[in-house]
Amino acid sequence: MPDEPIYFTAPLYYVNAEPHLGSTYTTLVADTLVRFWRQRGRDAFFVTGADEHGDKIAQAAADAGVPPQAFVDRMSGLFRSTWHELGLDAGWFVRTTDASHVAFVQKVLRDIHARGDIYFDSYRGLYCYGCERFYQERELVDGLCPDHRTPPAEIAEENYFFRMEKYQERVLALYEAEPERILPDGFRREVLALLREPIGDLCISRPKSRLEWGIDLPFDDRFVTYVWFDALLGYVSAVAAAGRPELWPHVRHLIGKDILKTHAIYWPTMLMAAELPLFRAIRVHGYWTRDGGKMSKSLGNVVEPLDMQARYGRDVFRYFLLREMAFGQDADFSETALVTRLNAELANGLGNLASRVLAMQQRYFEGALQPLAPEASDLALREAFVGARRDFDAHVAELAFHRGLEAVWRALDHANKYVTDTAPFRLAKDPAQRPRVGAILHELCEALRVTAQLVAPVLPETARRLFAQLGLPEQELAALDRAWGTAFAPGHRTEPPEALFPRVESLAS
Ligand SMILES: [Zn+2]
Repeated sequence: MPDEPIYFTAPLYYVNAEPHLGSTYTTLVADTLVRFWRQRGRDAFFVTGADEHGDKIAQAAADAGVPPQAFVDRMSGLFRSTWHELGLDAGWFVRTTDASHVAFVQKVLRDIHARGDIYFDSYRGLYCYGCERFYQERELVDGLCPDHRTPPAEIAEENYFFRMEKYQERVLALYEAEPERILPDGFRREVLALLREPIGDLCISRPKSRLEWGIDLPFDDRFVTYVWFDALLGYVSAVAAAGRPELWPHVRHLIGKDILKTHAIYWPTMLMAAELPLFRAIRVHGYWTRDGGKMSKSLGNVVEPLDMQARYGRDVFRYFLLREMAFGQDADFSETALVTRLNAELANGLGNLASRVLAMQQRYFEGALQPLAPEASDLALREAFVGARRDFDAHVAELAFHRGLEAVWRALDHANKYVTDTAPFRLAKDPAQRPRVGAILHELCEALRVTAQLVAPVLPETARRLFAQLGLPEQELAALDRAWGTAFAPGHRTEPPEALFPRVESLAS
């Protein structure tokens, strides 16, 4: 039986602000997982997109002096081009203003309304314009919005409500029975605590007198639908628009912890009411700080992803984000730490090994691979890389990218030590040792081959360049199961080395 496809989502980002490090990280994780699973023969796909409706967008468009549609055309174009420049091209980019998305949202709303799970009621409540949502009294901090620290406005209006509470017990039972639905587990426990309190029903509309920039309710065109029934359904409408509707039941959502509640509570109740299959899992990551403190526009310390890529290169930026953050926990972005990892792990641990091995291969054999003749130290080297493959696969499948990369770099440390211990540069002075020198370099070329294959999902450009220097065709990057010693045919020649990573002066102050 063929393996199931895997469908990852990064959020549909709200386009009132530009892409930042947090959204870049989630999108990078989706991209890396798709590369990882495709390399292992799986049908993997990822979607992201733009959430384009709502008060804040209408307001930002008005501030910019353009119609909302023109504003979101420009902003979602900016997201799309940023992801493209970073090499993070989704299988589909969904916009909540797409006609196919609008039609899907209206169909779902019509169905749920017809089944009686949407009702009309008047509502008086405490509303934060910044958050675009009503607050319960108990959610406020000293009477203020916990996010904006401003007093909410008391407003009354008639609206449509979704019977969210009707599905509360089912969602609670699901997360109690199936812990792998929300990981890491700390976030699941947070959700369980919320689900043990009354969650209430969900206001899903806004009167057009207050907000016009939304999708019309199909059963009452005096209202537009609002946020949740719009943006979250984009995960489903996207695969239909992409011609891959069969992917939906295999979906895994990747999110930052700021949107845990909407994804873990609102979203499954909506899917149950819509009679759609539930997501397989929600995987939650933490926040990035900057140099140990909060990152914000007003502090002027926001990380600009495209600037970082321009300064250090795409692969270096990717490597740092995936190596530095333990998925699920907060992490700190500092250029000092980035440069330290670049110099120690990339330029020294990997780049220097590759250039030494390929340079010796040129100098002693004009690039031609020599026969293997394994000794104990060679077998230990092989074992280190077999172990790295096993550990990398296990960790990355669990989204522990930092542990996976650590495992590969342990094997690279072993390889660097093997060079020192076997000392082919010294043996080469003795003509009688020439076969041994050739065998050692062959072992090391195999080590570089396996390294390139393993790091390919994280360092795609580096893996391609290293393969080219090894003289191997790019499609062999997917041949992970190739046995050690069979990658290089007799007479195979490697190319002269070229530096894989830039050298950057240490920034340590
Ligand atoms: Zn607020």
